[in-house]
Order: sequence, then C-alpha cells, then structure tokens
Amino acid sequence: MICLDKPEIAEECGVFGVYGAGEDVARVAFFGIFSLQHRGQESAGIAVSDGRRIRMHRDMGLVTQVFQEDRLVELTGHIAIAHTRYSTTGSSVLRNVQPMLADCDLGPVAIAHNGDLINAGEIRNEMLESGIDFETTNDSEVIIKLIANSSACSIEDAVIETMERIRGAYAVLVMTRNKLIGIRDPYGIRPLCIGRLNGTHYVLASETCALNTIGAQFIREVEPGEMIILDERGFTEHQAVPKEGNALCVFEFVYFARPDSRMYGRTMHDARRRMGHELAKEHPANGAHIVFPIPDTGTPHAIGFAEASRIPYAEGVIKNRYIHRTFIQPDQRMRELGVRMKLTPLKESLSGRRVVMVEDSIVRGTTIGPTIKMIREAGAVEVHVRIASPPYKYPCFYGIDTCNQNELIAAKLSVEEIRQYIGADSLGYLSLAGLIRAIGVKKDKLCCACLDGKYPVEVTKDAKLSKFVFEEPAVIK
Ligand code: SF4
Repeated sequence: MICLDKPEIAEECGVFGVYGAGEDVARVAFFGIFSLQHRGQESAGIAVSDGRRIRMHRDMGLVTQVFQEDRLVELTGHIAIAHTRYSTTGSSVLRNVQPMLADCDLGPVAIAHNGDLINAGEIRNEMLESGIDFETTNDSEVIIKLIANSSACSIEDAVIETMERIRGAYAVLVMTRNKLIGIRDPYGIRPLCIGRLNGTHYVLASETCALNTIGAQFIREVEPGEMIILDERGFTEHQAVPKEGNALCVFEFVYFARPDSRMYGRTMHDARRRMGHELAKEHPANGAHIVFPIPDTGTPHAIGFAEASRIPYAEGVIKNRYIHRTFIQPDQRMRELGVRMKLTPLKESLSGRRVVMVEDSIVRGTTIGPTIKMIREAGAVEVHVRIASPPYKYPCFYGIDTCNQNELIAAKLSVEEIRQYIGADSLGYLSLAGLIRAIGVKKDKLCCACLDGKYPVEVTKDAKLSKFVFEEPAVIK
C-alpha cells in the first residue's frame, strides 16, 4: 500500500463526541468526523450509547465508505463518540480501528484516542505479566485496559487514575452508558475543544472546523490535564491532573489542522499566510516570475509569500482532488509515476519562468525531488524552493509517524546538501523565530521538539522507536 495523499508527514487522528438527548447523535458524529477526515484516512468508527447498551460500527476506509445510511440508522442513542485514524502505533488493520470497547465492573466503556503514549510499552508489559491480554497492537488499548481494570468506584476516578499513569500526548474521549468524558494530557500536545449544540447539548472535537460543520458554537479549548464531563447535568469541568505546561503541537499550525480551524484564538489560514510573509522576508526570491504552492496544504503559505514579495501568485501544479490514501496496490509503472498521479504541472504557468515553489515542510524528502524534476520538464528555467517551517530534524514521539530519526532528511543533510539532493536552484527554510512570530503565540506555549529537540515530555529509552513496536515479539514477553 502506498499513501498518495501526503507521503512526507501525516496527521495523527481525529476524535469527536456528542451528548444530546433528542439529537440524532450518530449523524452528528458522522458529520463531525467527516470534517476531521484530513486527520486520518485509514479507518473510521462511531460508538453510540442509548443509556442501556453501547453499539458500534467501525471499518477500514474513509468516513463515507464506512458509513452509509443503513449503518447510521442502526446507531440510536443520546451519546456518541467517533474516530478517524491515521496509524502511528500499530498497523493499519481492522483490529486497531477505533473507537475501542471494553466491559468493566462499571459497565461498558468506549474510547477514542488521538496522540501517542510514551510509556505504553512499560504499562503493557506490566499488564501482560499480570495476565491481562491485549487484542490490538496500538497504544490506545493501554488506556481502555487501565480504565477497565481500575478498582475505582466511579468512571471519573478510573479515568483520573489512568491519567496519573499514562505519559505522552493524548486527547481522549471516554463514553459510558450515560456519560461522555473528554481529557487532554498535562501539556495539551494534541488539541481538543468543546462546543455547544442547539443551546443545551455539548460536543467535544479535535478541531473547531468540526463544530462549524454541525452548527455548534465554540466554547473553549479543553485545558491541559483537564477532564470535561458531559451528562444529564450538562457540562462539568475538573482539573483531573496538574497542568504541567502548554505544548500544543506547532505542526497543527503549519500543516495538520484544517485552515478554517482555530487554536489559541487564531485561524490556521491566517497563521500560515503570515508564515509566508516571514518566509519572503527571510528568503526573498528576487527576479522570480511566479509563486505557486504544492497544493493544498502549501496554499496559504504561498499566498502569504506572494503578498509579501509582490511576486504574482499562480497555480503551477494541479492536484488530483480524488487521491486519498489508497488500498489498491499500484502497478510498477504507477509506483514510478507516483508524484504524477497526485500532481500535474501547468505548462502555461511554468514554461520559460523562474518559479518559487512553496511547501509547508520537508520531512523525509522523498517526493519533493521528483516534483521539482517534473516542474523543470514542464519548462521552468529556475526552481526556487521555500519551506514554511524550519528543518524537521528530530523524531516525534507524540502522535506523528516520524519516530525514526534516520528517515528525516534534515537530520542527515545540511540545507545546501538538501538543495543539491532535491535539485532546486535555491532552498530556504523559515526560521523557528519567524515561525513563532507568524503564529503569534509565545514559544513556551508550543511543542517544537521536532524542530529544536526540546521535548516537553521526557522521552525515555523505553519510548517506542517504531510504529510496529507492539508487533515485535521481543516486546510481548
Ligand atoms: Fe508536533 Fe513536532 Fe511536537 Fe511532534 S515533536 S508534537 S510533530 S511539534
């Protein structure tokens, strides 16, 4: 299988939950994860409680492939949680799909998790040694197993006990027969917000774009270490574990979140345009004829670059809008033409021109070289590459599939060596200071660990070194 959508770096997962008697909660959840589809395209699932039992449907594929009308009408109830997955721990297979469901003394519990745990391996080994089996190879099962095996007298206490035990990045929704709980890790690395729907009902979502889609009003972001409880009393807030800081993933601003989502009171689109402004100041491209993005994610950055540099903005390549993560094995010829399946050069824009190509980031550096080659073949005489984030040098252990530093091109090569490797006439990366200025948030409110190596949550030698860590026999003793 190949990922044709964004082979360089991929989102982590999207979570959505709704509590509302009288609402068609399955349908609301469907629209919620549909608008979070950009965060994961491998699988989707919705679990619904009607107060007596929890029903669930989940499968591999896009939200619209997994859920048709006949599936949604079966999911009746007044609480729902939903998940759309990009795998960062555990293979992309059905057994790892979320939400996950377990039975415990307190009744059935379902969870949906976005993020990665640093100490999942340690907890998992302890549980295996005490006779608790695992059915999946993802780290999220540790969360539901801790909740299910807790001896606490209430679900809230079981969730707090679990939060005290797990370390790393998490935004988790927990659903019982009659409650919906949302929690966020003590640094708030992965996003989670709360909104009001139809006056008296509440929703929790990874991004505000999901609230907009269903017509909910944004209330606020869930605070680091906080637990939000939605039940028949409405919404209750509780500082479940001490807040240890603010370290929202800076790549939410650069690339992950949808452009119309807001975090820290800013829209991603505005922040990305300002990244383009800063990039044009730091790395001008005097004498270039046009600026164009690698669509779609590089578009606001390129608009910003064009605004600040006064170089005309144009479309240089057209993206095939129907390319998503594909489960069809392409033939050899298509594999070689992988970039062309996704992008087609516009000769009218490129021929005879000195061009500036703007991209949000370079992580592995596997696709940008073939793209530049294609642009030259379409007639561009010079290709100047501008990257709207600093070199991605350090692995992410918090929910992005880049935990192997050997795969990161900027960890191995200097900027000049990368320029030569990808075949650009010039290459400029936005500085970290420029990125922070563009976002307009103090650096100490952001995780920038993949850019500067300063990890907000200490990464021990036990942290996972591969997304397949729980599929390696050595770990399962
Ligand atoms: Fe985001 Fe990078 Fe931090 Fe990972 S290491 S959470 S990608 S900023």
